[in-house]
Amino acid sequence: MAPRKKRARTDDTQTDDDPPEVDELQEENSKPQPHETLWHDDGNIVLATDAFLYRVHKGVLAKNSTVFRNMFMLPGDGTEGGTAGLGDGVWDGVPMVKMAGDDDVDVYNLLMALYDRKHYRMYETTTLQILISLIVMSAKYECEDIRAEIVKHLKEHYPSKLDDFQKAKTRELFNDPPVDYHFRLLSVAHMLYTPSLLPSLYYHCSLHDLKNILSWLHLISRNDLDKIIRGRERMAKYAYEAVTDALLPENECGNRACFRKRAELVIMNNNYDSYDRPPLPLEMPPSGILHLPDSKAKHAEICEPCVQNYRLSLNWLRKTFWRDLPCIFFMDEWDKMETELHAEAED
Ligand SMILES: [Zn+2]
Repeated sequence: MAPRKKRARTDDTQTDDDPPEVDELQEENSKPQPHETLWHDDGNIVLATDAFLYRVHKGVLAKNSTVFRNMFMLPGDGTEGGTAGLGDGVWDGVPMVKMAGDDDVDVYNLLMALYDRKHYRMYETTTLQILISLIVMSAKYECEDIRAEIVKHLKEHYPSKLDDFQKAKTRELFNDPPVDYHFRLLSVAHMLYTPSLLPSLYYHCSLHDLKNILSWLHLISRNDLDKIIRGRERMAKYAYEAVTDALLPENECGNRACFRKRAELVIMNNNYDSYDRPPLPLEMPPSGILHLPDSKAKHAEICEPCVQNYRLSLNWLRKTFWRDLPCIFFMDEWDKMETELHAEAED
């Protein structure tokens, strides 16, 4: 368990490497200090990070975290450095646990989520840092309720149903997120054990320019990079289908002007003059290329049956694209992702 490891390392430092007095003074100054907000006088446990001490309540931690619950059930309370050997000393008579390997900001965000209802609320706009902290900490300390809320929240933005994907969101997920936020979210999303979140997250990552993707490769695993790059190539097929197949240029409708206009639109929208691919089915407005400003004035030549055919084909392509999305990113079909752990926690 993490606190034991940290304690061993601290002991080693003290015994093997006695620092000079000046360093001791500096060390004293840099010791973690009681946190201004998360310091409850009636708290019965102190959690220590490299930066702060948090005086909180065992009951609150145990209620929300299986790891803490198990720790406190160990003989000697698990926090007094006695029988269980998990304690990291005492602060003013209160047992202390060092949060080994945890960033202070992650510990802070987890405790704030437990003590301040406004800090993180499901379906409310939050910050990328808060969400990442809560994902990391709820995985490490097995905070099932927090994890289930985050999964539900993320499902709204990274759904497994096309209708939900296309539906306008009531709130943004993040306040002012960095441009690489999909990649940063992906770097921790696997900790939620909810594969169905991933296809649309990969999709958003893949929409970025290749130059950006390569500049952010340090944020994600090799496996995820592989899926994004190869999936990005696979997606191009649907972009050309959405123009060529949907406009059916080989389909003679008997109207010569309509036929020629459709062929012209295919050539123009397939963008052969550029290295850029045409828009993907989900990037297009409901009426596809017929309602793009460039073609709006020109598509009057297209006869009504062909316009209807185009709409139907595009709609079908959108559904096909969504159905194939997990496969594009080398994952199981949507239906096979139904055995996710989060389903147990839902309602
Ligand atoms: Zn026609």
